[in-house]
Amino acid sequence: MKFETIKKVILAAIMLPFVFMLIEGVVVIRSSVTQYRNLEKDRQFADVLARGGSIAATEILSEIGATRRYLARPNSRTAADMLQSRVTLDRERRAFYATLPSRDALDEGLVGELSILSLAYSRIIAARSAVDQGRYTGSDPGSIYWYAALKQLAVVDALSPLISDPVLLEKSNQLMGILLTYYGERLITGVGTRHLDHGVSARLPVELFVQGKVMLGEGMDHMVFHSSAPIVRDIVAYLGRSGQVKANAITDAILAGSRPTRTVHDVWAAAQSERMTFLQQKMIEAAKDIHETGENLSMRSHIHLTRILALCAGLLILATLVMVLAAKGLRLIDRLTQDREALVGELRSAAQTDLLTGLYNRRGFEVAASALLTQAEHGSRWISVVLFDLDHFKKINDINGHDAGDAVLRQVAGVARENFRSFDLLVRHGGEEFLALLPDSTPDDAAIVAERVRLAIEAAEIPLPSGDVLKVTASFGCAGRPNEASNRNFEDLVKRADLALYAAKASGRNCVVSGPTLPAPAQEERRKAASGGGFDFRK
Ligand code: GH3
Ligand code: MG
Ligand code: MG
Repeated sequence: MKFETIKKVILAAIMLPFVFMLIEGVVVIRSSVTQYRNLEKDRQFADVLARGGSIAATEILSEIGATRRYLARPNSRTAADMLQSRVTLDRERRAFYATLPSRDALDEGLVGELSILSLAYSRIIAARSAVDQGRYTGSDPGSIYWYAALKQLAVVDALSPLISDPVLLEKSNQLMGILLTYYGERLITGVGTRHLDHGVSARLPVELFVQGKVMLGEGMDHMVFHSSAPIVRDIVAYLGRSGQVKANAITDAILAGSRPTRTVHDVWAAAQSERMTFLQQKMIEAAKDIHETGENLSMRSHIHLTRILALCAGLLILATLVMVLAAKGLRLIDRLTQDREALVGELRSAAQTDLLTGLYNRRGFEVAASALLTQAEHGSRWISVVLFDLDHFKKINDINGHDAGDAVLRQVAGVARENFRSFDLLVRHGGEEFLALLPDSTPDDAAIVAERVRLAIEAAEIPLPSGDVLKVTASFGCAGRPNEASNRNFEDLVKRADLALYAAKASGRNCVVSGPTLPAPAQEERRKAASGGGFDFRK
């Protein structure tokens, strides 16, 4: 497998699981963010519910009571109480509106209920100024507060469908149920009391009585069908007590038109009053419970937020780690690639170099010569070859040993390298025979260079491993031809140089012989050349 492919595979192996983890992380973060938003929304609704419920359960009723006490007995104390109840209701109303989510987040139904509620509160403001101006003397502004309270209930009720937390939803139903029950009881008690107090001739406002009964029924529905909470069980158990059952029977009798005795009336009024105190207590409890649920939701949403932040941080650390790993992996691959290339280079040069002399071996020479010939095509007009062979080398081996022979080969190669030109290609052609390719050189040029090398070899004093010094000679054959792009082959030149070398050996050795510049002679002419043909550069 190619290194580039391995690189890609390693990168893919590192990156793929990471990408999957990243996608999974993003999905988990997204769902956590959604959960967090839901919790935040529900926490907000819990606040709205708790405040709205508490306004209906406490503040409106306080203001009705304080206003009635003031109207019945206007003095500085009742006026101060009334003023205080107004301040409290206004403060709670402002807080209620402040906790409401923005109108864009609310559905149309709820927005409509809120508008009606605002209208109901404007009527309270108008009623307050009428009370202050003394226009309510002898009459009761209760119905105005009553209307606002019912609208406040409607808003609380309209919030339920927007709640997604099941616990909060159940508690909102409980609160709504208790509020409806309380207001139903209050309506019945108020209407019943006024009817009984006004004597035999007074007409019973049956529709209000029925409205109270309907509210009671709705309230019980909210509580019993939506909840099995202890607070609901308490209320159901309370309403099942014999005193309460008896009061219900008296209520039904009043609705049917009977007029109870004073004693029965008192028993009924006491039972109803006790029932309302009980229910008001439960309303406050339920609103408080919702407030606590909101705090719980807030804590959960904070835990979620922390979890999201931890997840993000984890993903970031993971991403950094993977990046570092990937970078390290890539650097490792690059280093391996470089090492491999260096190794391949070393192997290639080892395969192309003669280990004993450090010159090109035949294979390396072919590669270099091919490149040189291609280059030469563009400029030079001539190309020549010099072939030289040590004289009587066998004897050197025989007399001085093979190691001495090796030392001689190394030294001769060094002398040759120094005396050929820097752009000539030098190769150990085999055994004790060397070949040089001389670009841009006529046969005459080649013969001059060859003569210089020959003299240098002859002059060299070669130290042997034994400590002795040896002198050697070599015979040279040269050949050249015009350089042509069509002829990259220099085998013909080598052959002709070989013939010239043969001639040099034949003519007594330690000399330079130039072969003819014309195409190589035929095989039978080789022998003729060996017998003395060619040009002798002998010293
Ligand atoms: P001539 O002058 O005709 O060339 O005689 P010569 O003895 O040099 O030629 P011949 O071909 O008979 O002998 C060449 C010798 O070179 C034979 C071989 O043992 C020796 N030789 C070849 N390669 C090496 C080598 O790498 N190291 C050593 N020490 N000797 C080698
Ligand atoms: Mg020889
Ligand atoms: Mg030889």
